[in-house]
Amino acid sequence: MVWTLEKSGKFTMKSSYKKMYEEKNNNAVVAPRMKSIFKKLWKLPLLRRINQFLRKYVKNFLPTRDKLSYAIQKGDYSCPFCSQMIETASHCILNCSMVKLVWFGLLSIHTPDNINLEDWICSLFDNIQAGHITEDEICKITIVSWCIWTQRYDTIFKEISSTADIIIQNCRKFLAEYIEMSHKKPNSANGKNRYNLHWSPPPAGGFTINYDGSYLSNSGSISLIMCDFAGYHKGSRCIYLVES
Ligand SMILES: [Zn+2]
Repeated sequence: MVWTLEKSGKFTMKSSYKKMYEEKNNNAVVAPRMKSIFKKLWKLPLLRRINQFLRKYVKNFLPTRDKLSYAIQKGDYSCPFCSQMIETASHCILNCSMVKLVWFGLLSIHTPDNINLEDWICSLFDNIQAGHITEDEICKITIVSWCIWTQRYDTIFKEISSTADIIIQNCRKFLAEYIEMSHKKPNSANGKNRYNLHWSPPPAGGFTINYDGSYLSNSGSISLIMCDFAGYHKGSRCIYLVES
């Protein structure tokens, strides 16, 4: 098996996302609708890893098997849950017969058949503005989506068999944790919301630079990565420090 997007022939997430981004958006500017969605998205009281999942979710960056078909020849592109359809993000999260049971069992939602995943989640964000849905409902929908996605990972990479009941049981733990956290009062001593202490998004049009470093004996390195407010990668650098 050869990954044709890298000279080495080896799969990398970087080349995969780059290809998806190029196909999806030729623009460097985020549309006003997406700016509004990302503004709301950053403020949701979700665990960081679930929020990061949501960012890929709304940008249709989930690396499902259909997206890999152009790079991997003669691969298995079928849905890991039902094996009946080609796995697209919409099928995996919304339309698979098994995940439909999950959505109804957890949130009494009949997921739509004639809309793609990206449009569906973005329309839900639009409905917050119109007062048809609350942020709390978006959070629960995101958690259910994330649980389906992590179960997919376990099915493919750990060869763990999946049923709607297993996903429902796992997801109930995360929903219960979310409900418990969302009912806790912010600490009145400092008046800050505990869920947003780790990071604050920059204002629209701004950028963030995250950095980290390590050292061993007399050498080390510093790494920097810059993203815009919507989470798009804008540049990165690794600086190696050598003994003088
Ligand atoms: Zn399926």
